[in-house]
Amino acid sequence: MKIAVYPGSFDPFTNGHLDMVKRARSLFDHLIVAIAVNSSKSTLFSMEERKDLIQEVLADMPNVEVSFFEGLLVDYAEKINATVIVRGLRAVTDFDYEYAIYQINQEMNPGVETMFLLAGKEFSYLSSTILKEVARYGRSVEAHAPPAVSRALLKKFGHTK
Ligand code: ADP
Repeated sequence: MKIAVYPGSFDPFTNGHLDMVKRARSLFDHLIVAIAVNSSKSTLFSMEERKDLIQEVLADMPNVEVSFFEGLLVDYAEKINATVIVRGLRAVTDFDYEYAIYQINQEMNPGVETMFLLAGKEFSYLSSTILKEVARYGRSVEAHAPPAVSRALLKKFGHTK
């Protein structure tokens, strides 16, 4: 069974992330969406909130699972028997950072391959950060995030009807 892991902060999960999951899950038997637990990085949504939202959005995808990981991704991948890490590339600005991580991961565990999927063109400028900025001022982000996420974002900033 070919298992892949798709790691990220997902703070919160956007349509860009969703597109990645849909494409990646068709390439592997099992895809684990792994939320990075990073105590030094402050997030808008708690780990549990992010997990619940992602689970709700991906509920109809049987070969996709949502989990958390702490520490080094390659160690987590090995623990769950994932042989591939899936990452998304948007603009060229993503490349340097991702390439550096790829190299260090290869050095630490050559048995775990990294696969990059290029962002679909309608998602190439989409990020969780931008959606948080828009929702902060009460604007809906429903064109760019699943409905549950869009609602949760407005609620988080106190913009509920
Ligand atoms: P991280 O902090 O690990 O970058 P993110 O939640 O921002 O976490 O992103 C998780 C993964 O999803 C990364 O590989 C990132 O490149 C990818 N990604 C983020 N936004 C998009 C998008 N709009 N289209 C495609 N991939 C994306």
